[in-house]
Amino acid sequence: MPLLTGNLVLPYEVCFGELAIADGLISAITPLGTPQPDAPLILPGFIDLHFHGLGPYSAEDPRTLLDMAAFAPQVGMTSFCPTLAPTPWPDQLAYVRQAKEAALVQHAGARCLGTHLEGPFIAPAAKGGMNEDFLRPASLDDLRALLREADGTLRLLTISPELPGALDVIAEAVKHGVRVAIGHTHCTIDDFQKAVEAGARQICHLFDTFEGRPVHGGVSQTCLTDAILIEDRVDVEIIPDGHHVQPGLIELTHRAAGTDRIIAITDAMMGAGLPDGVYAESDGRPYRLTNGDVCRLTDGTGTIVGSCLTPHIAFQNLTKRFGFSIPEASRMLSANPARALSLHDQTGALQEGLWADITILSPDHTTVSRCLVSGKTAFANDDAMT
Ligand SMILES: [Zn+2]
Repeated sequence: MPLLTGNLVLPYEVCFGELAIADGLISAITPLGTPQPDAPLILPGFIDLHFHGLGPYSAEDPRTLLDMAAFAPQVGMTSFCPTLAPTPWPDQLAYVRQAKEAALVQHAGARCLGTHLEGPFIAPAAKGGMNEDFLRPASLDDLRALLREADGTLRLLTISPELPGALDVIAEAVKHGVRVAIGHTHCTIDDFQKAVEAGARQICHLFDTFEGRPVHGGVSQTCLTDAILIEDRVDVEIIPDGHHVQPGLIELTHRAAGTDRIIAITDAMMGAGLPDGVYAESDGRPYRLTNGDVCRLTDGTGTIVGSCLTPHIAFQNLTKRFGFSIPEASRMLSANPARALSLHDQTGALQEGLWADITILSPDHTTVSRCLVSGKTAFANDDAMT
């Protein structure tokens, strides 16, 4: 029975101990004492529900999804939802159809949980870095076409609720087991609340593509992000790269929403985890990736199109830059996304009976030493092992 020894990151504490694995599952957890300074950090594997690329791979190219899955354990990722921003409509249908294979077939590396469609039912006014040519009005027929192609593998749909017909699309998607996120929106608070009533339960990268606070007659108004923070039924995605969301807003989110409503995402682009350089979106538009900064279009506008964050850097940022405890950061990167997709009985925590999907960091937390999926080593960095 394989045994891991180190500082175990449990949901609400860290302790030194042993973790046993049998038949791909965590079979026993044995606490042995207080954390040891020179021991590796053993965490539940990181789960990213929202990213567009990783390493040399685009998550928007279904032909390389399995290669990306094999790469993902290098950054501590054990499960993921490849995310597609709007592309020409026939390509979106083909993407969902082809990505289904990655979700259903046995493969090496991280688990592909199914597709996240960030669009195409997005309000042009809030498109952010999306290509406006490929946005579509909210349409039940279009949704049903996507559901048919996905055949149960569409996990997450991001939509602007102010579009005519959006509430019907939300309700229909939820009926088919799809998690619905609200985002890329300038909707009213009333629109937002109707979307929640229709079943939306998540917010796409809170604060990014959202409008600021309106002032009428010299009086500050309650704005959409305020309403989101105090609506307990929705979880909020946060990009913890230090650029997409100001540290003060992360603290505000934590105080208002609490740790367990925050889902850390990377929203990363192809090139994340690689050196600085110019890469291209799936529609061919080039962007510059600058590590420690963000990805920006090179068309002179400097529009942000995504991050160069990886989950293990997100963990470091959450703990070292934003002041979260290790268990809190871990929940944002594992337990909370698992729960969002109703997978908390399978993964997202170091708990007996769950999949042995485990990320091990070096004692200083800077390096992924080893990553296991279903108890099998999917990545091992011998240099980092101590
Ligand atoms: Zn995105």
